[in-house]
Amino acid sequence: MKDLHQIKIGILGGGQLGRMFALSSANFGIHPYFLEKDKDFPAGLVSQQVIVGDFTNEKDVYNFGKQMDLVTIEIENVNTKALARLKEEGVKVFPDPALIEMIKDKGTQKNFYKDKNLPTSDFIMLKNKAELLEQIATNKITIPFVQKSRTEGYDGKGVLVVRTNEDLDRAFDNPSYVENLVDIDKELAVIVARNEDGDIQTYPTVEMVFDPEANLVDYLQCPSEITDEHDDQCQQIAKSLAKECNLVGLLAIEFFLTKSGEIIINEMAPRTHNSGHITMEACMTSQFEQHLRSICNMSLGSTEYIQSAVMLNLLGRKDYTGPANYPSLQEICKKSGVHVHIYGKKISKPKRKMGHINITAASLSEARKTMQEIKTILEA
Ligand code: ADP
Repeated sequence: MKDLHQIKIGILGGGQLGRMFALSSANFGIHPYFLEKDKDFPAGLVSQQVIVGDFTNEKDVYNFGKQMDLVTIEIENVNTKALARLKEEGVKVFPDPALIEMIKDKGTQKNFYKDKNLPTSDFIMLKNKAELLEQIATNKITIPFVQKSRTEGYDGKGVLVVRTNEDLDRAFDNPSYVENLVDIDKELAVIVARNEDGDIQTYPTVEMVFDPEANLVDYLQCPSEITDEHDDQCQQIAKSLAKECNLVGLLAIEFFLTKSGEIIINEMAPRTHNSGHITMEACMTSQFEQHLRSICNMSLGSTEYIQSAVMLNLLGRKDYTGPANYPSLQEICKKSGVHVHIYGKKISKPKRKMGHINITAASLSEARKTMQEIKTILEA
């Protein structure tokens, strides 16, 4: 076994998750390599070790991975065929290529929950739009429902809520599935980490408050305001998923708490996650450090919650595309408990994730109050 500092870690993707992983790993004297389209990506601005290539391309992933001892990901839309070959040839690949393959297709994910008897909303798989219309015509599917593209949907882009016949004009024609429109009370998330020794740690259950217009997380809070029973259910499901998936690394699980009080799984991602950004200041160990610890088979850090926090995504302005700028940052930084994380993206686009701010305080209500003041500054 190599000394920790001799392990060459490669990461597929150099976006904000990769960047924060690099920053966190640097504290350990560890400097990962990135495979990304160009060096201007968020990770490239904090790391000199970006290898230019396409993480969806088999040859690029294989050639990159061959130079590494360990390969991990910051996005699941990667070439898993190359990863499987690398694994066969002795490169450590975490999470396992088979797990990435299963998760990157939301349809396979749904079948997995069903097979394992884990709670999720009922669904019907579809080949194309014609099949969807046929199932509606024969009353096998009734409006309202939610249609989800099986692959390549992210940040709500592969999700269509169908409430009327007119909404069907926008229905996806690629392989998809339809699921019940859930009457959501709250959206929750848990991140679980597991190392090669099988040690497991779950982070506190966080609550995600959505911006209904952008269909993106508006803010996140920790702790979540739910009953102990619901909290336990989320924590237990996360732990059993980590075992069932033979996870090494992180798994972020998103849940719906329904209005009738049920906890159901929405989806999961085998990596660091937007819902885990709050851990950077709310918990003893950040999700990025925990990712490093888990894939290097170090002892996992404590996930203990240390202070109330909210996390606000900084999204690009609706009406602006152009060079990124942050004119209100000075004003925002006058407030106490503000922790700024800017991703270094050069161009701002409507609703693009440009950064996030964690706000910590003695209580959730205090943190939320500061957040509202910050929102007012941002919207001015
Ligand atoms: P993505 O992976 O693109 O974020 P999600 O599956 O998480 O897509 O869906 C995005 C959002 O759409 C969810 O957070 C939730 O607010 C809403 N949504 C998704 N599925 C359902 C559903 N079955 N019923 C009601 N709302 C849903």
